[in-house]
Amino acid sequence: MRVKPHERIPGVFWILDGKKLLATKNLVPGHRSYDEVVKKYKGEEYRVWSPKRSKLAAAIMNGVRTFPFKRGKKVLYLGIASGTTASHISDILGRDGIIYGVEVAHRVIRELLPVAEARKNIIPVMESARRPENYSWLVEEVDVVYEDVAQPDQARILINNMDLFLRKGGHGVIAVKASSIDVTLPPKKVYAMVEREVVSTGRYRLVERVNLAPYDPKHAMIVFKKVS
Ligand code: SAM
Repeated sequence: MRVKPHERIPGVFWILDGKKLLATKNLVPGHRSYDEVVKKYKGEEYRVWSPKRSKLAAAIMNGVRTFPFKRGKKVLYLGIASGTTASHISDILGRDGIIYGVEVAHRVIRELLPVAEARKNIIPVMESARRPENYSWLVEEVDVVYEDVAQPDQARILINNMDLFLRKGGHGVIAVKASSIDVTLPPKKVYAMVEREVVSTGRYRLVERVNLAPYDPKHAMIVFKKVS
């Protein structure tokens, strides 16, 4: 087995072990955040990041160019659930970074609590992402707003949160599930609708769109940049 850094994305690694697996270096060695596979190499622990379990991993596998999750950055995560994807972002951000994780479902946030307690750089926020004003006392200005809520109004939710919390020059990254918005339209039309809604505010520029098939068919990851 061999581990090598991802060619473009700091903090992300390839495990070469017969197959090529995506991974992050465990921020809390000895602690597993879910039932992920852990591999040891040269005294370090690497957590396999499956694109079948995480849309952000699927976006990396499919060649996303813009990856604003970097060491020391601040992230507002909408729809953090039990922290599967967030735990890998937490590995990448390291101790100096922070994730504010908004989640509305009590059951899943209960599973997030031990993950947040072990990692220290995740702050759970039990609220609806539709009501950003309710957590504005807690969340500071961030470098990235990441959204994965699978709701019909997900573009509006992203805009409202970016308006309140995203710094100028920062990025909004959204996992769009086409069928959550309109089952009758072809996914491409739904992605274009989301892009138009966000860009028409005049405050955000479309950076890129990456299809998540075959890992998540009819899903896309769309990246925006705050320009004013
Ligand atoms: N992002 C997670 C991951 O990759 O580990 C999976 C998220 S799952 C697809 C969507 C999550 O969004 C669910 O946990 C759901 O409860 C949450 N959600 C749905 N509507 C929400 C809202 N209005 N505010 C906050 N969370 C919401």
